[in-house]
Amino acid sequence: MRTVSDYFGSLVFDDRVMRAKLPSDVYASLKRTIDEGASLDTHVADAVATAMRDWAVEHGATHFTHWFQPLTGVTAEKHDSFIAPSPDGGVIMEFSGKELIQGEPDASSFPSGGLRATFEARGYTAWDPTSYAFIKGHTLCIPTAFCSYSGEALDKKTPLLRSMQALNKQALRVLKLFGNEDVKCVRPCVGPEQEYFLIDKAMYEKRKDLVFCGRTLFGAKPPKGQELDDHYFGAIKPRVEAYMEDLNTELWKLGILAKTEHNEVAPSQHELAPIFSVANIATDHNQLTMEIMQKVASRHGLVCLLAEKPFAGVNGSGKHNNWSLATDTGVNLFKPGETPYENAQFLLFLCAAVQAVDNYQDLLRLSVATAGNDHRLGANEAPPAVISIFLGDELTAVLDAIETDTPYSGTEKTVLKLGVHVLPKFTRDTTDRNRTSPFAFTGNKFEFRMVGSSDSIACANIMLNAAMAETLKEFADRLEGVSDFESALHDLIKETIKAHKRIIFNGNGYDDAWIKEATEKRGLLNLRTTPDALATVLEKKNVEMLTSLKIFSEAEIRSRYEICLENYCKTVNIEGLTMVDMVRKEILPAVEAYLGDLSGTVAAKTAAVPGLACKYEKDLISKLSKLADEISDAASSLDTTLIRLKAIPDVTDAAYVIRDVVLQKMAELRVVCDEAESITADKYWPFPTYGDLLFGV
Ligand code: ADP
Ligand code: MG
Repeated sequence: MRTVSDYFGSLVFDDRVMRAKLPSDVYASLKRTIDEGASLDTHVADAVATAMRDWAVEHGATHFTHWFQPLTGVTAEKHDSFIAPSPDGGVIMEFSGKELIQGEPDASSFPSGGLRATFEARGYTAWDPTSYAFIKGHTLCIPTAFCSYSGEALDKKTPLLRSMQALNKQALRVLKLFGNEDVKCVRPCVGPEQEYFLIDKAMYEKRKDLVFCGRTLFGAKPPKGQELDDHYFGAIKPRVEAYMEDLNTELWKLGILAKTEHNEVAPSQHELAPIFSVANIATDHNQLTMEIMQKVASRHGLVCLLAEKPFAGVNGSGKHNNWSLATDTGVNLFKPGETPYENAQFLLFLCAAVQAVDNYQDLLRLSVATAGNDHRLGANEAPPAVISIFLGDELTAVLDAIETDTPYSGTEKTVLKLGVHVLPKFTRDTTDRNRTSPFAFTGNKFEFRMVGSSDSIACANIMLNAAMAETLKEFADRLEGVSDFESALHDLIKETIKAHKRIIFNGNGYDDAWIKEATEKRGLLNLRTTPDALATVLEKKNVEMLTSLKIFSEAEIRSRYEICLENYCKTVNIEGLTMVDMVRKEILPAVEAYLGDLSGTVAAKTAAVPGLACKYEKDLISKLSKLADEISDAASSLDTTLIRLKAIPDVTDAAYVIRDVVLQKMAELRVVCDEAESITADKYWPFPTYGDLLFGV
């Protein structure tokens, strides 16, 4: 029997393959490019391309593609075959270094948010050698960055790579101050836990809302939901187990470290977590994972729903973005150290994260802002829209002690010497997990829990890296060249705690009282909706930070703002239109059919027994008939608003109309439809109900 280690990474042109297939000088040169970002000469590129082609053809590939992540949120590929005619009438398989390094897809059909108006339509893709090439189907996929001809990033990967570079530079400066001369590189590590729903494909196909929008827009609450807590970590059903097995095999072949799988809180909800990797690889892998999850589901007669809130009334899905910083020497900078000196370094990085999150709450919030995620955040199942940090009682007490220059009297096992020059030594936090915090310290990493399940993790990590880089830059500027490093460090940590402790909150984030305290007492931001959040990216402090670190140009920021808003508008518009369509073509006809039969029954019964009251039928007819009128009115009202919306030229204005009017009307329409569903006989209802969908696998 083949074991996992036999086929793990078998479809990846990874280090093992490179070492085996490349001439040693080429391998060494490529390694330098991968590890140190050295540029690649054409001789090396040609040799790599040849080896890659031979390997891919051996594995059944006929085509190659530059695989990239445009601002649509999904990945894009355009396949070219390797074939070239040979003089004898046959073909040879060709692939050059130039084709490996650079591609030229037409950029005009991808969103560019205005960048295209000022620049050429042509775009180019550039190989990212730090992310291994892989085979999908019959195609060799080469991970690439996607830019306009003038160098504007048209994708999510380029700014992510830039943010990693900025973070590396500033973190190295800080590490030098602590005497870490051997560290060459600091990289963000990310482990995204992915939640999803699995439902039956035949049922899915009967629901236009699922097919068009990926989430249900109607659905009365079934008698049973998640209230018994019997799904979370429960035994996995055979059909789901077969799916997970198949999925794991596919992911492992692609070198994706799929590790943990379990049932989640809601019925039909599950989670998959990989082992963490460097941020750009984790991002590539998460995009691939989402794609393969859906592909494999189809083979099993299932559909994998990645929408943030596919069902009202039960939990939605998110993605926990576990994030830490690691040196090439193997040190996790968020791991408390052994000596007070190491702990001073840890505390400085921790404080940098606290300051970064406080100063750039808005950027973190907007990095996860989508129409879908707005339904999830703050709904008592996911963190609120207010950003705060959970540090745990022990670490918070240490920070308090430093801030107030008082001795720390934590748990007994804690050894603590606190003087002006000596920072405390303490043991790892032992407090319980806080699952309600948007940004929780979990011992040696931060878990950013606001990311939506269908979203790319690129944006969240760009903003995390950027905010952290900016803060470390400020710290390094202040500490470099001081005569008494320890005092300066102590003062800096103390001041940082004082200035930013408002962002630390260890209590229940789902509590309404917290939102009140956060906004009224602490002055934290509560950006409830996507349009509210997105607007903040244009604020001066944010534009200055992102451009000075060279993560985005001003034009790139504006383009992303427009694309995200447009996306929000389009998504909700499609949902609104789908609702109107389902109401007029399915729901109302179904209700009418039932009403017709009920009325027929009344007529038949009174004909049989003249004077019969027929109270039950008549009550139901009145109630349902009134609901049908209300449904019809609500649908017309929504429809009119959507028509009006189309005429609004400015995307920001349109987004506000959606936020304030359209979503409200959609909610009103849903209420009356769900009420009608709950009193209509099953056989009349035109599509599978929540009960069917949630308990149908
Ligand atoms: P949890 O802490 O949520 O109970 P795990 O400890 O298993 O679960 O980790 C969840 C995710 O965090 C996994 O994807 C894991 O690989 C990732 N992770 C663990 N350590 C780190 C780290 N130092 N940096 C980034 N991600 C990490
Ligand atoms: Mg977790």
